Amino acid sequence: ITSLAIIDAEHKYREILSEENFNIESHQELVLFDNSLPLDTIFANGYNTILGPSTNNTYSELFQVKSIEIRSAAIIPLVRHGKLIGSLNLASTDKSRFEIGNASDFLNHLSEIISICLENIALYKKSQRDSVTDSLTGVKNRRFFDKTLTKKVDELLKGAENFSIALIDIDKFKLVNDNYDHDIGDIVLKTLASTIKLDLPINYCFSRYGGEEFALLIPCNISQAFNYCEKLRERVSSNIITLDNGTKIKVTVSIGVYSTETISKNLSIERIEEALITNSDKALYEAKNNGRNQVVEFRQ
Ligand code: GH3
Ligand code: MG
Ligand code: MG
Repeated sequence: ITSLAIIDAEHKYREILSEENFNIESHQELVLFDNSLPLDTIFANGYNTILGPSTNNTYSELFQVKSIEIRSAAIIPLVRHGKLIGSLNLASTDKSRFEIGNASDFLNHLSEIISICLENIALYKKSQRDSVTDSLTGVKNRRFFDKTLTKKVDELLKGAENFSIALIDIDKFKLVNDNYDHDIGDIVLKTLASTIKLDLPINYCFSRYGGEEFALLIPCNISQAFNYCEKLRERVSSNIITLDNGTKIKVTVSIGVYSTETISKNLSIERIEEALITNSDKALYEAKNNGRNQVVEFRQ
C-alpha cells in the first residue's frame, strides 16, 4: 500500500487538483493536511525515514485502507529547503518488509525527487496564474482577455451563440489621483474591480484592460448585456469607498457595449475582434461625451 501525504495549508494543491478535475475524495492514496501537525507529530524526532512494525492504527491518517492488515511500514519525509512538505508512505502486510535498520537510501532518494516535483508543480501553476492576472487588482489581465476574446470569436464562427463586449472606464479618474494621491487612486481601482467582480456570473470574462479601463465579455445579446451593464453602473455609482482614515470617495463609470449580433460572420477572427473593440470604444466615447456615468450601446 502506498500513499502520498501533502501539507496543503493554503489549499494550493487542492486548487490545482480541482482545476485538473481530479476528484480527491475518490483517491485514498492522496492525503492532504490542512496543517503540519499530523506529520510534525510523526517526525517529532527529526526528518528521517521511519521503518518498522506497524498496525492499521499506527498511521491511520496516512493509510485510509481499512480492508488490508498492515504489519510494517516505511514513512519517508518529503523535505524542501529544510521544510517538511509531506510524506511518502509505504505499508505492507508482511511484517519483515520494512524493518528498523533496512537500507533506505533508495527511498530517501525517491522522496527527494518527489519533493522537487511537487515544488515544481506548485511553482509552475503559480506562474501560470500570475501570467493571466493583473497584479494590482487581482482580476484577469489584458493578455487573458485578448486570448479569451479570440477563443470566443472562434467559437462564434463555429456556430456558438452571439455575445457582447463592454468597455468600462472610470470617469474623471485623473481627479482622484490629483485630489488625493496615486496610492489612493490604486485603492479606488482595486475596490472598483472587486465591486464589479462581486456578483459576476462565472461565465463572464472580466479583466483590467489597461489603466483605469476594464473589459467585460458577456455571453448574452445586446439588450441583456445593456441591462447588466446598467445595473453594474448603478451599483458602482452608489458604492461609497471608505478609506482607512475615514475619507469617503465615490466614483462613476461610463460603459460602451456592443455585440456580435450585427457583425458579419464571413469576416476573419481578427476583423471581428477589431470591430468589437473599435465599436464598443466608440460607444464608450459617446457615453463620455453625453456626460459620463452612463451606458451607451453602439449603433451603426
Ligand atoms: P474620463 O472621464 O474622460 O475617462 O477622465 P479620466 O480622468 O478618467 O481619463 P484620463 O484618460 O484623462 O486619465 C486617466 C487617469 O487614470 C490618468 C492616470 O494617471 C490614471 N491611472 C491609470 N492607471 C492607473 C493606476 O494603475 N493607478 C492610478 N492611481 N492611476 C491610474
Ligand atoms: Mg477615465
Ligand atoms: Mg481611460
